[in-house]
Amino acid sequence: GGTASTAVKHLGQWDAYESGHNSSLAAHEAYETLARTGDKIIGTTELCIVPGYRFRVISGGLITNFHQPDSTLMCLITALLGNDTNTQTVYQHALTQGYRFLSYGDSSFIRLKPASPTPTMPKTSHQLEQKGRNTNEDDQEINDSIIKGENSEGKCMDWPPKGSKVLLHSCCAPCSGAMVEAMVDRGMDVTIFFYNPNIHPKQEYEIRKEENKRYARDLGIPFVDADYDVDEWYRRAKGMEWSPERGKRCSMCFDMRFERTALFAHEHGFQYITTTNATSRWKDADQVNASGERAAAKYPSVEYWKRDWQTDEMTLRKYVINAEKEFYKQEYCGCSFSLRDTNDFRRSQGIEPVTVGSGGVYNDPEKDAAEESKEAVASFFGWDTDRGESSEERKQDSRRLREVYGGRKKTGGSTVASSRLDARTASDATHGEHNNW
Ligand code: SF4
Repeated sequence: GGTASTAVKHLGQWDAYESGHNSSLAAHEAYETLARTGDKIIGTTELCIVPGYRFRVISGGLITNFHQPDSTLMCLITALLGNDTNTQTVYQHALTQGYRFLSYGDSSFIRLKPASPTPTMPKTSHQLEQKGRNTNEDDQEINDSIIKGENSEGKCMDWPPKGSKVLLHSCCAPCSGAMVEAMVDRGMDVTIFFYNPNIHPKQEYEIRKEENKRYARDLGIPFVDADYDVDEWYRRAKGMEWSPERGKRCSMCFDMRFERTALFAHEHGFQYITTTNATSRWKDADQVNASGERAAAKYPSVEYWKRDWQTDEMTLRKYVINAEKEFYKQEYCGCSFSLRDTNDFRRSQGIEPVTVGSGGVYNDPEKDAAEESKEAVASFFGWDTDRGESSEERKQDSRRLREVYGGRKKTGGSTVASSRLDARTASDATHGEHNNW
């Protein structure tokens, strides 16, 4: 016989939210895979279950006591119930019925319905709030909806009621256009919150910010210009410089930006936060939403508003507005590492590297939307390469991409965007310390 091997595994605090989170492995398959790595497995975990976590092992439900506010147990319960409002509904019921809390108190059974092949969307927290809570039938309906924990799985949430105060974290004008328009049309009290210390270099940051301000001015909605905490961003990014887009650096980046957004919302009486990052197909909506939910979970009065903003309709409307407004066309996600990786990709496709400030302006909705098509996004991330296509098919893909991106420099937007920027295009001393790829 051979020598017994020992596999040592460690699960970090946020590992379950990152790349493996969307794996379709069943629990027993994951266990078998793990078992193949050694005769003996020693494991440690720092896993923290907060809203956005996807439960895999629980199938019937969870028996638990009623917990104290601000505890990590409350984060777990909220993750299970889908959102903070649902948790408040359950706890309000416990309070009005005089249940006893903590270890020697009463217990609750949070029942999970078996997953259906085509899960139905949960009721929104607003509908749940509006329902009377005095009859057993109502309680049952609330329980059936909230207890499934589907909110963290489902994509849609209905529109908050007219007049709701929404703080929209915005990364740029092009991504905010259609979202802001839809919110204003539905009578929401929306404020744009610009907090993006990830954007590099400062020149690009100023262009994106000024374009976003211009849009807010045109619509007559408030615009909050938050700090440019670039040193803190790089401090947090340390060790993740080579993490790919959609990887752990991006979770950090979303977390940092949404934490500040949630804090501002809490301090200024906003009921909802959401983000324009959720509207871009370059982003993993689940990853963005998990960060948003983590940030909002710290403040009972603030809820992260999750919705599917990446539909074809929203994408096209976004580019129609972008062309109408002639927004500056940005050509990479934002940080210096994404600029480096975008340039690597472009070189591999025979496309000129990005020149900051010269991306031109949006002017052709269909063509611009094609640059964010599922196909273009898949090619950038290399998703096609695992599908065993022939080299001829890959060459065709490559040609299509060159067509999609090739005309970008012809729009002559450099002067248009720059002329809107008065003296702010000078490079920034702080940012100069970081690599300009
Ligand atoms: S690629 Fe984009 S989301 Fe990811 S870290 Fe860079 S700026 Fe942030």
